[in-house]
Amino acid sequence: MNYYAAPIARLIEELSKLPGVGSKTAQRLAFHILDMSGGDVEQLAKAIVTAKRSIKYCTKCCNITDNEICNICSNEKRDPASICVVEDARDVIAMEKTREFKGLYHVLHGAISPMEGIGPENIRIKELLKRLGEEDIKEVILATNPNIEGEATAMYISRLIKPLGIRVTRIAHGIPVGGDLEYADEVTLMKALEGRREI
Ligand SMILES: [Zn+2]
Repeated sequence: MNYYAAPIARLIEELSKLPGVGSKTAQRLAFHILDMSGGDVEQLAKAIVTAKRSIKYCTKCCNITDNEICNICSNEKRDPASICVVEDARDVIAMEKTREFKGLYHVLHGAISPMEGIGPENIRIKELLKRLGEEDIKEVILATNPNIEGEATAMYISRLIKPLGIRVTRIAHGIPVGGDLEYADEVTLMKALEGRREI
């Protein structure tokens, strides 16, 4: 299976480790890279290394940032009294795109999953509790994913926070826009029903 010169085989192998990149795509990308100018290839390699080296976690919300405190936490126009708890830094981007939420975030970097051996101590729950003790927070919105792990995580956190006298809410999960009721699974339907509101 030595169709490729060793350096190309190596490039294909590295590229195919990326999510959603199968061996065919890896091959296509590798040959594309070989067709690029030397300068462009260096820019690409540099961008990857720089991004990896310069990112850190916001000391307040654990979101990905290149500063001590992320852009959202340091934005004075945001409402510091409400915190939206998400599993992943990508969820922050998704929420931000809705332009609906004006508060701050807390990124857990995962969800509780006994099956995968991930307990509450393995995600950033401690950091959240510390914030709740130090900052004047009125509401915590639990926006973990609507699956078993996300629900378990939301339940766990809500039990910890409720005794503190802070309002805890869970985002309503519904049928995706353009989705068909008939094809929605039970959890989705149940959650959609629970999250119903007056119209
Ligand atoms: Zn932050």
